[in-house]
Order: sequence, then structure tokens, then C-alpha cells
Amino acid sequence: MSLRVECYRCGRSFGFPRTRCRCGEGLWFEARPSGLRAIDADEDSIWRYRSVLPVGAPVGLSRAVGRTPLLRTPRLDAYAGCPVSVKVETLNPTGSFKDRGSAVGVGWAAAEGNGRVGTVSHGNMARSMAACSAAAGLDCLVLVPADIPAERLGGIGRFDPSIRRVDGDYADLYDRSLEIGARSGVTFVNSDTPLRVAGQRTTAFEIAEHADRMPDAVVLPTSSGGHASAVWRGFQELEAAGRIDAIPRLCLVQARACDPIARAYRDGGDVRPVEAGETVAYSIANPDPPSGDRALAGVRATAGAVCSVGDDAILEAVRRYATHLGLAVEPAAGAGLAGVRALAEADEIGPDEDVVAVATGTGLVDTGAGDVEAPVVDIDDLDTEVAAWVGSG
Ligand SMILES: *Cc1c(COP(=O)(O)O)cnc(C)c1O
Ligand SMILES: [Zn+2]
Repeated sequence: MSLRVECYRCGRSFGFPRTRCRCGEGLWFEARPSGLRAIDADEDSIWRYRSVLPVGAPVGLSRAVGRTPLLRTPRLDAYAGCPVSVKVETLNPTGSFKDRGSAVGVGWAAAEGNGRVGTVSHGNMARSMAACSAAAGLDCLVLVPADIPAERLGGIGRFDPSIRRVDGDYADLYDRSLEIGARSGVTFVNSDTPLRVAGQRTTAFEIAEHADRMPDAVVLPTSSGGHASAVWRGFQELEAAGRIDAIPRLCLVQARACDPIARAYRDGGDVRPVEAGETVAYSIANPDPPSGDRALAGVRATAGAVCSVGDDAILEAVRRYATHLGLAVEPAAGAGLAGVRALAEADEIGPDEDVVAVATGTGLVDTGAGDVEAPVVDIDDLDTEVAAWVGSG
């Protein structure tokens, strides 16, 4: 079956594996709402939505991804300022929702007989891609910034991917890796690419399946905008299939030190790159989000909202998750709950609105597996480096 991808903004469509539209926006797969009638109820993972995924389950770890609990958590209501439920993404195999997209990306590459995948990440996505690839027997190339902290390298390195520390503009690397990957036959599954979005929209499918009543709002800590776009897409498809009556309000939360999408929301314009400061929530600190405009389009289409929260509020929410739910989350996930509180305080979320806070990533830190080999390569030599990597095995 030939897969097609389309642009939410200008409507153009292309054959996959193209990842970006001529207008510059990220592409997602064409919808097949009728497929949503064929959910495989025996499958206790994202693969129950196989009929609307671009590929079936690969072997190994990827089979265990998804079907995370949606917990009604009244003990958080007073703090949040509204009735809140938590989607526990920390329970995915490598501790974040990124596994949803990685499983589909790795599954697609494996099904194509293409044994090589890659990603540009120094955090959860890198760990997730490395782990899913390891289980499927695929080679994985992870491109990290040259100054990555050693303990983070260890958490990725334990799954034995090939890692290159790239010297150069890390923001440039996102698009360059997609171009180089297309030339060299490496499937790069970056944060807003069609395969990742296809997998990560299962978050929306699960919320709709689990909730006895659809929530009024879904709140997501946001960086690249890939997950938010995916959740919007998933709800659109459910609505088109007649499975839900209305799409919940899509609400996004960013760290105050790096909040390009929140700024564009406040200004009413397009998302522009920002000079980022430091934040504890490093997993949501993308100063130039590739799907910022797409995520913001989802917010606007659903009468949602975007807010930014400071590090003190983020750390307070991390503590609340621990002390009132017994859940260890990383700061980026805490930002989501801090955002629910901030939005409720600002009357952007009403006191009676049912809200789902997505706890995106675990706070149980992976200390890694000792020394990890990660040679430094100049960004301008990356083409040759990737060709050599492909040729080496
Ligand atoms: C990646 C990530 C996010 C942000 O997701 P985007 O798709 O990049 O917007 C939020 N929280 C955690 C824990 C993440 O790993
Ligand atoms: Zn377009």
C-alpha cells in the first residue's frame, strides 16, 4: 500500500517518506477514519489501533508500548483548581510517551527491510529510539549536541546505539538529518516526523477510549509541538469517525525560559525562534519548535490556551505528583500540571472543567551503564559521517 502524507495548512499531499511540505510545515499521514471502526480489542498496547497505523507491531519491546492508565486523581484537584485526571505516560517501556512514536518509526523501518534508523535528541526520544531499535535488531544512530552531560549519555548508551556528538548549530541539525537520512537510507524519526506523529496520536485514541466522559481539556507540556499536533490529529480523526462529539480543548504548557509557542499565542501571530534561557524542564526547551505553528493551530481550532510556567512552579508540581499521587515525574511533566493550575488561576480553565494532565515522562533517573563511546563530528561533515556509518555494517 502506498502511504500518503498531507499538510494541515495548505492541503498539499505527497508520497511518504517525504516529511515536510513545500510550505515548510510538517506533514502527517492522510486520515482513514473508517479504520477506527476496526480497533483490535485483544491487543493491550498501541497496536490495538493497528488499522490506522502505517505498520504493524515489530518484534520485541515495541509491542509493550501504550495503553497507559488514565487515573482520576481527586487529591490533586485543590492544587490544580479543577477536576483533574492524569494520563500516566511514565509507564511506557522507557518512561515517556516518546515510545509511541519510536515503536511506529522502528516498526516501519523494520517492515521496509531498512535496518537503519536515526534521531536527533539528547533526551527521552534518543533513549526510546535506542531501546526500540535494540529490541528489533536495527542499527540506530543518535545525534546529540557536543556538550551533552555524561549521565544523560549513559542513559542513552546502555541500549548500544551509535552516538555522534555533533559540533555545530543543533537547531540546524533537525532538518539536515532528515535530508541526509533521505539520501543515505537512514530513517530519521525526529520529534514531529509523520511516523512519530502517527504513533503519538494514540495518546488521543486512548484518552477517548478510557474516559467514561470525554474531558473538557487536555493539557500537554510542549516542546517541538510533535505530541500536541499528534493529539490534535487523533481527536480530529475520532470526530470524523463519529466516535466523539467534540474535540477537547488543547492546552499547552511551556517553561518560561523557553516559550516560543506561548509567546505566539499571546501575540496572536506565528511561532518565532527565541533566545532560550536555562530551565529545569530541559525536555521542553526547544527554542525553535518544528511543529510550533501546527500545535498552535490545534490550540486555536479547539479554543484551547497556552501558558508558560517558571521553574519554582514546575518543581512544586513535581513534588505534588510525588506527595499526592505517588508518581515520580521529570520536571517537563511537572510543567504540565503546573500549567493546569496556572490556567485555572487565569480563568482559562473553569473550576468545573474535567481536565486530563499528561504526565509525559518519568522522574526515576537512569544513571546509565558506564562509559559510552560518542565521537565528536562537525555538522558540516555529517553527510560523510552518516555515509561511512551506513557503509560500516
Ligand atoms: C518530548 C517531551 C515533551 C514534549 O513533546 P514535544 O512533542 O516535543 O512537544 C514533553 N515532556 C517530555 C517528558 C518529553 O520527553
Ligand atoms: Zn503546506
